[in-house]
This record gives sequence, structure tokens and C-alpha cells, in this order.
Amino acid sequence: MGRPDAPPPRSAVFGRSMGPPLPVAVGGDGCYLIDARGRRYLDGSGGAAVSCLGHSDEKVRAAIHAQLDRLAFAHTGFFTSRPAEELAEKLVAAAPGDLGHAYFLSGGSEAVEAALKLARQYFLEIGEPARHRIIARRQSYHGNTLGALAAGGNAWPREKYAPLLTECSHVDPCFAYREQASGETAEDYGRRAADTLEAEILRLGPESVMAFIAEPVVGATAGAVPPVPGYFARIREICDRYGVLLILDEVMCGMGRTGTLFACEQDGIAPDIVTIAKGLGAGYAPIGAMLASRRIHSAIAEGSGAFQHGHTYHAHPLSAAAAHAVLSRLLDDRLLDAVPRLGTQLADALDARFADHPNVGDIRGRGLFRAVELVADRETRAPFDPARKLHARIKAAAMEEGLICYPAGGTVDGARGDHVLLAPPFIITEAQIGELTEKLARALDAAIAC
Ligand code: PMP
Repeated sequence: MGRPDAPPPRSAVFGRSMGPPLPVAVGGDGCYLIDARGRRYLDGSGGAAVSCLGHSDEKVRAAIHAQLDRLAFAHTGFFTSRPAEELAEKLVAAAPGDLGHAYFLSGGSEAVEAALKLARQYFLEIGEPARHRIIARRQSYHGNTLGALAAGGNAWPREKYAPLLTECSHVDPCFAYREQASGETAEDYGRRAADTLEAEILRLGPESVMAFIAEPVVGATAGAVPPVPGYFARIREICDRYGVLLILDEVMCGMGRTGTLFACEQDGIAPDIVTIAKGLGAGYAPIGAMLASRRIHSAIAEGSGAFQHGHTYHAHPLSAAAAHAVLSRLLDDRLLDAVPRLGTQLADALDARFADHPNVGDIRGRGLFRAVELVADRETRAPFDPARKLHARIKAAAMEEGLICYPAGGTVDGARGDHVLLAPPFIITEAQIGELTEKLARALDAAIAC
């Protein structure tokens, strides 16, 4: 890490010359990243929940090389490709509910944009043109492109762009640590949180509402927040009652991160559309996907006959080959099977190290998707003053320790608190979980002390 007070180096990469200098990543070895000075960093968050297979998976690299030797690119206006077909087949075979068709994009924001447009086209095709409104939740992030940004419920990423954004409604999240009342059962709380969706649908007029979008386990904005039991069953019920499509954004929590291939499987529901991205390419290639129900697909197939969408690089053969190899590693080589066990080990290690820490208010998550929430006062759950930018200090202190973790917060939704998100590769060992926890403890203490 460079000194924060050092002048930024000249960089032609837009934005890189605006902040403190960053180390140059030059290599990857299993769960570690290596910089140009030879320093090794344990990747405790897979970047941002991306690198689920670590950084040197031989089978994925071989699949990309083999595809490159056969065919790099064929435009989807003219051709489909073997890797795209094989990937779609494998994904839908493993997907819950009626999700029967996959549409490939280059990342998460593109997948969310496509999902929103697909929902709109579906209602046009079935003769309900008034349905155009999107409802999302406070404390959510769905991407940085304009439509996805509009859906996100955090004010700060959106504010500056407001005149350009579609209006979306935002209802309550399901965030027990912060919002469950004392004396309220988890079941009652889940119902209360879900019912804010019904109230909003009724306020807007059900005939105008197109879709509700939510992350099954909330990632970057609040830190690995699982829903309380029953919450999503109620959400599904409400969407069905009013004919509203349920879009689940599993860009971060999907692809096995929580212990099942799709996070929503653990809530016993299936969406009409699901978006996935980060773990799909696992960092080996940029790729996202939207999986849609057969019902939506046939409405369009039997209606206008085409989804009016597309990008030059969608369903890129190299990315599809990489993602197919990743999925094979998870399912056929059974790496996914290790996630629940490793997740429990990580949760136990975090509990053992931080349960008595005076500034750790909550330790939560599912599978290898975990977070610790930091508070100035454990009793009142008061967050640290956002002006301290604790999350930025933690990130810097962790990198000094040789640990990549994903702290965020402070200004999220008006000072909800800082948290550190952990999402290590599925190949992490028990010893590395110990290393992660110890490095994190030293980084937290250093950041809180300064
Ligand atoms: N949805 C969620 C839940 C995300 O976490 C992200 C990325 N953090 C996105 C969408 C956008 O994905 P991308 O950065 O690949 O565009």
C-alpha cells in the first residue's frame, strides 16, 4: 500500500490517479493474490464475492484456452455457440421452479437491466401495458447502469443521477438485527417486513406494478443479511396475489455462495426471473445471466417472437466456456458440497474471535457469505460516526495485513453502520480460515484505534 498522503501516481486508467495509489496485481495462487512487489494477500472476500474457485483453477483455465483455440467470437445475431448452449442447459437443469431459459450478458448490472426490460416486455405481450412500475427495497444495490441504479434503494449512489433515473418505489428490507422489534417473533417480523410490499402495491394500484426485485441474501449494502424464515414465502404469495413478477437478484449471493446453487432454494421459493453474475465467471471471464421462467419465455415466443434486447458481447463464447467450466467444478467436481461445512467453520471462527469484541454488534450470513457489523456501542447498536469512514480504514489496515476483505457502510442509508463482508473461495482451508480471522481481528483493532 502506498502512503495515503503520497501524491497519486500518473495513471492513464480513468479514476486510478484520483485516489491513493493501489498495488499492482500480477499473480494469483489458490486463495491468494500477489502484487508486483511479491506481497501475498489472502482473498477473504473473493474481491466482491467473485472468485469462488480462487485464482488459479486449472480446469477453468484449460477450458478457456481450449475454447480460444477453437473459436473466440461469433456474433449472436448470426450464430449460437456450443459453450453458450451447454452452459444454458446446465444452468436451467439445476435451477429451481419454472426457470427454463438463460440469457447471457457481460455482468450483473446488464443482467438486472435485461430482467427489468424482460418483465416490461412480458406484460406488453400479454396485454397488460399499464404494468410498468418497479418496487425494490431500501438498502439494496442492483447495479450501476441507469435502470439498475434506479432500482437500488441506497440513496447515495443514486442522488447525483436522479433526473436521469426511472422512479422506483422502495419498501422495507428484511434486516432482523436492525429492524426486528424487541419482543417480536422472527415470523411476525418477517410478515411485517413483507407486508410493506403489499401496502405499496395497493398504494400504486396493482394494475400498474410490473415487478418486485430483491436480493435473497443482501450483499454489499448491508453485509450478508439473510431473511428471517417465512419472509420470502410471504413475498412470493403477495407477488402472486397481485400478478407482480418476482425478480431475485442473486448476482452476489448466487452460484453456491450461500451453500446452495441458488440462494432462494433455502427459502423454498422460486422467482419468475433470477439474475446471477459474479460467481458465474468466478473472475475468469466477465459474464452475467438472467434466467427466466418458461411462462415468460412462451408469452414472448408466442407473441412478438423475440426479446427486444441484445449486446454485442452477450453470450460471448470464451465467457460461456469459462462459466461452464466453473459450473462443472461446482456441480460435477462437487466443490459446492464443501460450502455448508466451510461456512460453518468460518461462522464458528468468527464467533470465537469476535463474539465478545466490544465493537462487533452482529455476526451473520449463510454458507461462505458472512459479515460482521461494527458498532460504537453494543447495547444501543449505535453505529460509528460515518465521518470516521471506518470501513475505508479497515480496508487499508486489512491490506497492510495481507488480507482482502470487503468493508462497506458508514453512509449507507443514513448511517446504518459499518460492516465487513467475507466471501472467500470455496477452496479455502481450515488453516486459511484461521489466518483470515486473525488478520481481520488485527485490522479491525488497528482501524478502530486510529
Ligand atoms: N446486483 C447485485 C446484488 C450486486 O451485488 C452487484 C455488484 N456488486 C450488481 C447487481 C451489479 O453487478 P456488476 O458490478 O457486475 O455490474
